[in-house]
Formats: sequence, structure tokens, C-alpha cells
Amino acid sequence: MQVLSGVGPSVAERLARLGVHQVRDLLFLLPLRYEDRTRLWPIGGLIPGTRVTIDGTVELTEVVIRRRRSLLCSVSDGTGSITLRFFHFSRAQQKGLSRGVRLRCFGEVRKGPGGLEMVHPEYQRLGEDETPDLEERLTPYYPATEGLQQPRLRRFVQLALAALDQGGLEELIPAEACTAMGFSSLDAALRYIHRPPVGTAAADLQAGSHPALRRLAFEELLAHQVALRRLREKVLAERAWPLPGPGRRVRDFIARLPFVLTAAQQRVLGEVSADMSTAAPMLRLVQGDVGSGKTVIAAAAAVQAVEAGAQAAVMAPTELLAEQHHRSLRAWLEPLGIQVAWLASRLPAAARRDALDALASGAAGVAVGTHALFQEGVVFDRLALAIIDEQHRFGVHQRLALSEKGTSGAHRPHQLIMTATPIPRTLAMATYADLDTSIIDELPPGRGSVQTVVLPESRRVEVIERIREACALGRQAYWVCPLVEESAALEARAAEETSKGLAAALPELRVGLVHGRLRPAEKEAAMNAFATGSTNLLVATTVIEVGVDVPNASLMIIENAERMGLAQLHQLRGRIGRGEEDSSCLLLYKPPLSETARARLATIRETRDGFEVARRDLELRGPGEVLGIRQTGLMQMRVADLMRDQAMIPDVQRVADDLLATDPGRADRLTERWIGAAERYAQV
Ligand code: ADP
Ligand code: MG
Repeated sequence: MQVLSGVGPSVAERLARLGVHQVRDLLFLLPLRYEDRTRLWPIGGLIPGTRVTIDGTVELTEVVIRRRRSLLCSVSDGTGSITLRFFHFSRAQQKGLSRGVRLRCFGEVRKGPGGLEMVHPEYQRLGEDETPDLEERLTPYYPATEGLQQPRLRRFVQLALAALDQGGLEELIPAEACTAMGFSSLDAALRYIHRPPVGTAAADLQAGSHPALRRLAFEELLAHQVALRRLREKVLAERAWPLPGPGRRVRDFIARLPFVLTAAQQRVLGEVSADMSTAAPMLRLVQGDVGSGKTVIAAAAAVQAVEAGAQAAVMAPTELLAEQHHRSLRAWLEPLGIQVAWLASRLPAAARRDALDALASGAAGVAVGTHALFQEGVVFDRLALAIIDEQHRFGVHQRLALSEKGTSGAHRPHQLIMTATPIPRTLAMATYADLDTSIIDELPPGRGSVQTVVLPESRRVEVIERIREACALGRQAYWVCPLVEESAALEARAAEETSKGLAAALPELRVGLVHGRLRPAEKEAAMNAFATGSTNLLVATTVIEVGVDVPNASLMIIENAERMGLAQLHQLRGRIGRGEEDSSCLLLYKPPLSETARARLATIRETRDGFEVARRDLELRGPGEVLGIRQTGLMQMRVADLMRDQAMIPDVQRVADDLLATDPGRADRLTERWIGAAERYAQV
């Protein structure tokens, strides 16, 4: 990186934080937005909220102390005047802004107490008759990092672009595809994106609908597609322990279940079981809506592994869900004589040692836990099956890392991945291009209906009565408190207060509480109490979003539902409607509702089908809106946005097939360019 002038070790380190390790990476550092500094605006015509360039003469500069000491500088150009406001300023700066000085300023116009103003504009002093040229192109605004400001980043990128003139980058999208898709060359697309000419609609660029951006997004999607396919080939070329089955113990396990497997479960279990029987590592994704019964598939697969003399590990994304799996698996497997070990990140030393010993000696056939399962120091006797639940919460990189970790000696574990993410099918295909897919497309019979109602929070008192009635009939209820994005501590406090309030309003009920700040043992106790029915009402934060399974709970209240995303609402509501009773989900909102919030709530009221929820979600987000990574955990990319660009995915897949078949060297260079060496991809 130090080949660029002005880049010493400390700057290189900051650039690395932006993912820039070599000059070429600068070209792929995409602007977050653009500023238009190509025109000069008359001060009299300024509109609040715009970012503009103005020239003007200082009329008055003074230090004002109202709530804060600030430097105010009034500037006019004959058409009007505006105030420049500085909260931080030096004496020299104050002196330099004396009456009569001419300035060129760039900044955001806003309404101030005494008319229009710019807060901390960029400015330069101008000579007597000096009128510097305006920019000829839109000015890119890059993701900045501490100690690396825009002007310097812009200069580096310009240098990288200049280097491009000496020799362009290799075209890696096959020429036919480029023509068919109407793409320009890579060099042209990069130049365009970093230096858009005057008149370019910045909004198109920012929304990703501009052809230059689509060109880059396509290439990036192609690189990921190729990388995932390669990964698949690599894994399939390795060996796994064959785990033949289903044998007597698996049949015994299924026979002892208190229910009959659905046809969909049987089919999926058959697919999983057949995969595990061979020496080629299984790479299977089981998709099934919330409540479709994925856990029992995982358990049956684990029994098959143990029956074949090996071990299985079941990993869940949250401690709460992992604990629940631990409970279910123990209940199912211990009667068959299979020991289930438990590993989470904060375990008492003795418990941890016991679990580690049991796994290392092979005494425990099955391990359940969080990502702690794959940390250093965890040694399995013969791990042959890795099950990852609710994979959408992990992200592809972690998934790949886990598979590497589980590899022991010459053997790679079979992988079974389970997800309820409601994402559209093309998108799922792109994200899981390395996996075979099974779908549980049927819910177990005998489930009650779920009625969803949307209510303003002013109806809280009635809602509390609903809880009283439901619990009087022996049912149980969840009260979900709002997400506080900024602070887990605040979120926990709000939940505590809500639970106190509800306990006071419902003195005859036992009210439990669970949130992210509780110690693991406290969480487990709260969940246990609710699962066994000794608490009637569970007040919770969104920690219960995935996996929690208490069939007797038939009422859920979600507070501030207008602030939650569709996928999250769908997951939360999936906690009820698990028993035979009809259930109700009451979505409380704080008015007024925005248009999209209204549409989201209407969607969740109208449908319970995860795929339909996903489709509507996409529609509501609209193109250009960034996918909530936290919500879906899909791949994070530099240019492409899986949601926004999903229409290109079928083409991406076709071109990937082609490339892998006809020009593997080019495919390598493509992944190298976008993802780094293939090995790096498999690291976290
Ligand atoms: P999810 O697919 O959301 O992970 P779970 O595995 O938690 O679903 O299953 C939801 C509930 O349905 C559990 O209580 C489970 O025991 C139960 N269940 C699973 N399969 C069946 C079935 N075939 N018939 C009846 N109940 C079932
Ligand atoms: Mg589940």
C-alpha cells in the first residue's frame, strides 16, 4: 500500500480498516454518496436541506454565547445572505473571517434561529477577483474512518485511477455476457463511479440502478457464486465418515416420539439420512418455516451419527435457543442411552471441564451449544456431523469457518444446516449456492390458528385483560418489549419495568422475565419456569425471536411493533400457534404510523406464510434500500445488494456455470479480485 505517495504505515493501517490493502482495492472502495460541487448557487435561492457551493463576502463576524459559544459569520453575495456557524474555532480563524473577506463555501443549508445557515462549512478564502473553477464532476463521498478524511481518500482514489490509465484491469466477465447485459468495460465503470460527469443523476448511482453500478454488482455476485461453487467442489472432494442408517436406534427414536412425523419431515429426513450414509461430506440445507419441525430432523440425524459410532454437534445462534435444544435433545436422546453435553461461552469451570472430557473421550455422543462449541480447546473424539440451526443468524463466513473447525484429520464432518429465514427463493439459491436444499413445506397437523390484530398502544388496558383471560384458562402468554438498538442496558431496563408493571396489574399471575443482560443461569431458569408452566406470562426482549418452543403459549403481545422488520415479526409470532389451541398475536403500535410501517403491519396481519412475508418484505423495502444484515445475516458485499440486485441472480448463475466449465483460471482471478484468495474466504 505504501507505493502510493503519502501513505505511511499509520495511513496504511487505516486504509486496511476500510478493506484497502493494495492500490487496486481503492478502486473498489465505493462512494457512499456524491456531492454536487459543479454549480455555484446564488445565496438568495438556497433551499434548506441541500448541500451547495456558494461564493460571498463577509459582512460581520462575531462570537455569540447563547447555549454554546459559537462563531457566527454573515456572508452575502448581493442576492441574499447566510450565516456560517462554527462551534469549534481558533482565534486565527476568527481573524481570517473579517469583514470584506471573500469566501467560497461548501456545506449543508439549514434553517437556523435567524435565517439560513451552514454549520461548519468547508471554506477557502478567495483573492480579490479570484473565482476558482468549479468541479467538473460529482464529488464522491467515501466511507471514512477515523483519521482518514475525505480529501485524502479522494486523492488516493484519484491516484489509483491514474494508475489505471497505465494499464487497465482485466475484464473478467465473459465478453458475450457483457454484451448481452449491456455492460461497459470494467475500467469505464470504475471511472464513472469515482468521477461521475456533470449531469449524472446522483440518485441513480446511490440507488444502484445506474448501469456502471450494476456492472460492478454483477461481477461481485459472480465472484461470490463462483467462490461458493468452488467451495462445494473442494468439500465434496474430501472424505467424511460414512454414517449408514437409519438403523434400529433411529427407528426406535422415531417410534418413541409423541407425534408422527409429517410426510414432509419424512421426505427431508430420508434425504439427510441418505447423504450421511456416503463418504462424501453432506452439504445440506433444510429450509422450513417457523414451527415446521426442524429440530426433530436434527435429532434424528444426530442419532444416526451416534448409532454409526460417531459424534454430532448441534450449534444454535443464541444461548437461549441452544439451551432449549439441549433440553429437547436430552429429553429425546437420554432414554436411548445417548449422553448430551452442553457448551456455552460462560460456563462454570468444572461444568466446562466435564463437558470437554465427555466430548474428548467420546462418552457424550452429542454436543449442544453456541459458537463456543467450535472454539479452541474443544476436542471431539470423532465428530462426524455438524448441525447448524437458524443459520441466517450466522452469515456465510462463519458457516464456512465452522466447517473447517470441525474437520479432524482426514475427515470433514457432514454438514446439516437449518434455516427458517423467509427469503425469496432466488436469493436463497445465491446465498446457499454450495448447498443441496431440502424444504419442509408442511406444518404438523393439529395446530391452532393464529389471529393477528393491530392495535394502538392506548388499548393497553384491554390487552392486559386478554392476558388475564388467557391465563385463567390455563394458557400462557409472551409480552415482547421493544428493541432498543442503541443500548442493551436500556433495553433490559425497559423490560424489567414492563414486567414490574404487568406483575402489579396482574397480581394473580406469575410473571417471568428474560432479556439479553441476564446471566446464562438466570435466563435458563426463566425459560425453564415458562416451559414447565410455573410462570404464566413471560416478559421478554427480542431474544426469544428464534427457536423458543412452548406449545402452551397461545397469546403474544408485541410492543412497538411498528419499529420491527417483517422477518422479525414473523419469527416472533412463530413462537405461538404451536399447540392445538387457537392463538392470538396482538401488535401494539405507537401512532402515528408511517406508510411503510402500516404496510408491514398489514402484511403480518394478513399472512402467516414465511415466503409470502419475504415477498412482501422485498416489495416494501424497494430497490436501493440496504438489506438489514442483522436481520438476515446474508453475505455482506461491497457493491452488490442481494435484495436490490436479485433480478440479476439467474444470469449470474448461468455465467458462473459457464465460467467454471470453460475458463477456471479466469474464475480464480475473479474470486481473487473480489474476495481475496479462496482460503481467505473460508476464514471468518
Ligand atoms: P422449527 O422448525 O421452527 O424449528 P420445532 O422443531 O421447534 O420447529 O418444532 C415446533 C414444535 O412442533 C415442537 O414442539 C415440536 O416438538 C413439534 N413437532 C415437530 N414435528 C411434529 C409433528 N410431526 N407433529 C406434531 N408436532 C411436531
Ligand atoms: Mg427451530
